[in-house]
Amino acid sequence: MADPKGFLTTGRQVAQTRPVAERVKDWNEVYVPGSLLPIVGKQAGRCMDCGIPFCHNGCPLGNLIPEWNDYVYREDWQAAGERLHATNNFPEFTGRLCPAPCEAACVLGINQPPVTIKNVEVTIIDKAWEAGGVTPQPPERLSAKTVAVIGSGPAGLAAAQQLTRAGHTVAVYERADRVGGLLRYGIPEFKMEKRHINRRIEQMRAEGTRFRTGIEVGRDLDARELRRRYDAVVIAAGATTSRDLPVPGRELNGVHFAMEYLPVANKVQEGDFVTPPLTAEGKHVVVIGGGDTGADCVGTAHRQGALSVTQLEIMPRPGEERNANQPWPTFPMLYKVTSAHEEGGERVYSVSTTHFEGDEDGNVQWLHLVEVEFTDGRFQPKPGTERRIPAQLVTLALGFTGTDRANGLVEQFGLELDERGNVARDADFMTNVDGVFVAGDAGRGQSLIVWAIAEGRSAARGVDRYLTGTSTLPAPVRPTDRALTV
Ligand SMILES: Cc1cc2nc3c(=O)[nH]c(=O)nc-3n(C[C@H](O)[C@H](O)[C@H](O)COP(=O)(O)OP(=O)(O)OC[C@H]3O[C@@H](n4cnc5c(N)ncnc54)[C@H](O)[C@@H]3O)c2cc1C
Ligand code: SF4
Repeated sequence: MADPKGFLTTGRQVAQTRPVAERVKDWNEVYVPGSLLPIVGKQAGRCMDCGIPFCHNGCPLGNLIPEWNDYVYREDWQAAGERLHATNNFPEFTGRLCPAPCEAACVLGINQPPVTIKNVEVTIIDKAWEAGGVTPQPPERLSAKTVAVIGSGPAGLAAAQQLTRAGHTVAVYERADRVGGLLRYGIPEFKMEKRHINRRIEQMRAEGTRFRTGIEVGRDLDARELRRRYDAVVIAAGATTSRDLPVPGRELNGVHFAMEYLPVANKVQEGDFVTPPLTAEGKHVVVIGGGDTGADCVGTAHRQGALSVTQLEIMPRPGEERNANQPWPTFPMLYKVTSAHEEGGERVYSVSTTHFEGDEDGNVQWLHLVEVEFTDGRFQPKPGTERRIPAQLVTLALGFTGTDRANGLVEQFGLELDERGNVARDADFMTNVDGVFVAGDAGRGQSLIVWAIAEGRSAARGVDRYLTGTSTLPAPVRPTDRALTV
């Protein structure tokens, strides 16, 4: 334990964000570069090195948090980086994007603000990259076994990196034109700059992983043919089917799924469009769905110059403190003010959209809503609360219903699905098809990056055992594991 009195003498201090007026004019990450470095040592010193570190359980990767807190306090950045990489392939993704269930489980959090674990994590990995400490780790010998990974999101990348390092020859198939999955085309640049993905991909290429972009398995390449060509297959295709809102007017121009809107904005940042085909500029924007995808739409619309941004949520506004049925160390559903919300817009709770109204050219102009209350097991409209709000761009951020069924991948492999529409798997992450494994959102349903990486690592162990009869690769999670809520 680095500083026995740290938790008594030091208060919690988090990464500083850039002023709103400055950051909405650009797409760079919202944080002040370098603001963590002067404070992170003392913050790590708040860790109590608990006998039972609940943060380990809170983190699906089982990150060795007290160990790296100690190294950071002692300024041994190299050791901290090694311990961090021992459990996490991509800490620069989680250190920026994870909602940090570890912090919800931090013992200090019982009666004080928890340790800033996520901020410590991102500082360790950023320093490691800066110091040239993140280098390719190619295998010493090859196994002569081949693996195809379908999908290049965090689950596919983690599985591919683990299997490549174990000596297998791995090719990642990705239907998009660039690698990264939702990290690339869902999550906006202001939450994570894409240079972080690019340099990881360079590392992975140097280790021997091959990437084949622009190929949709099922549509461009028969899944059975892929299975014949490789000794094993990992499906890490995500849960990309968006939940729709089938109300009158849904067909109007200007009503889009969030995942039609956000990729265009990300492609602008990649330099693909000068004039984007879809933008919030000069429009009244309504985002339906109060979650993180919705918040990403809000931040994107601000930067594009929306006239107004309103985010609607059917649930009531959550509380700011844990309530009795979400005790420590569970991950509580609390009222969150994300960086996008700090930047403006209005959030409206307990409302439901009844229909959209358009002009004579078929363009959406108004969204009609009604206030609701939860009675008799469902949301009931409150009579007399109907109203309309201006809406020239509407994004639907209502979650996802499972893996894409349109390309034929599920049928060609003959995959069994579970009761929630996800690809079913056994304890080794293998599907009902011999040698075909599944990891990440495709098997778990829409979740988090940290779960995707943990599943990718665990599925890699299952594949390695299948190919060689044994494995020394770690398996941080089982397919049935559920977090202490996220
Ligand atoms: C807008 C948005 C914001 C989010 N923000 C956060 C956040 O801040 N923090 C967090 O922890 N989580 C966040 N999430 C959730 C997180 O991104 C996902 O849980 C995670 O990316 C899942 O990883 P995955 O590898 O399973 O799938 P994905 O990232 O979805 O990757 C799947 C990949 O497979 C490809 N693919 C699909 N089918 C095929 C096929 N047949 N052939 C070839 N390629 C195929 C897809 O193109 C895609 O690239 C967010 C999600 C969204 C939608
Ligand atoms: S990956 Fe997420 S849960 Fe794990 S230590 Fe980092 S911030 Fe915490």
